[in-house]
Amino acid sequence: MSDIEVRMDRMSWVTYAERIKQEKPPVFLPVGALEQHGPHLPLGTDTLLSTSVSESVACRVNGIVAPALAYGYKSQPKCGGGQHFCGTTSLDAQSIISAVRDTVREFARHGVDKLVVVVGHYENQWFVTEGIDLALRDIGSSSPLRVMRTEYWDFLTEATLTKVFPDGFPGFALEHAAVMETSLMLHYHPALVRLDLIPREPSADFPPYDMYPPHTEWVPPSGVLSSALGADAIKGKAMAEQVADDMAAAIRREFNL
Ligand SMILES: [Zn+2]
Repeated sequence: MSDIEVRMDRMSWVTYAERIKQEKPPVFLPVGALEQHGPHLPLGTDTLLSTSVSESVACRVNGIVAPALAYGYKSQPKCGGGQHFCGTTSLDAQSIISAVRDTVREFARHGVDKLVVVVGHYENQWFVTEGIDLALRDIGSSSPLRVMRTEYWDFLTEATLTKVFPDGFPGFALEHAAVMETSLMLHYHPALVRLDLIPREPSADFPPYDMYPPHTEWVPPSGVLSSALGADAIKGKAMAEQVADDMAAAIRREFNL
């Protein structure tokens, strides 16, 4: 970790402009959600984690982290619990696409040539992809901007997953407010986690299809899709450091740093 400020919203425009011009740093855009994460985690979990992961990687590659897009695409019952929870606050796909398209185009105008879009909410990914694609079409092929998009959990290796889930990994869709996110929150934001409120209930058992309007009775009333029991800060640190190291290596490779 370095002492250099990584957050764009805490810099003056002058500092930001100098760094973009002289250092050509990677700029990170976290894309999260405001969504129920059970009784034990805050509504902003996806935004907090995508931002914290971005900051960890930015420290390793001398990058700058822009403020997150903090609202996500509509929560789906089988990966986020669904839209029926109070507090879950979601956008239409077109709004996500537009927000990503507009921000990517603005970074290009600033002279950013390396942009890393870090998705922290499963439901966002194809709308984020569309926003990036339309922005690149807007700015044209003569722009030097290159964009990496990632769902940060995809960096987790088999070795890390085996360590964190000794009884078997339930899959990222069911990993909502469960061991992975709770452990990462215990590492990055321990004061926001209520371990005493982790529900003791079996994992959700979804059929291989969706219904619209959704059957809310398929979703555990707590909003937790598989158990968060077993989450701890040591697992969180192991995941956070492995993801940050490997994402930093990917950024160095793709952007020739
Ligand atoms: Zn989440």
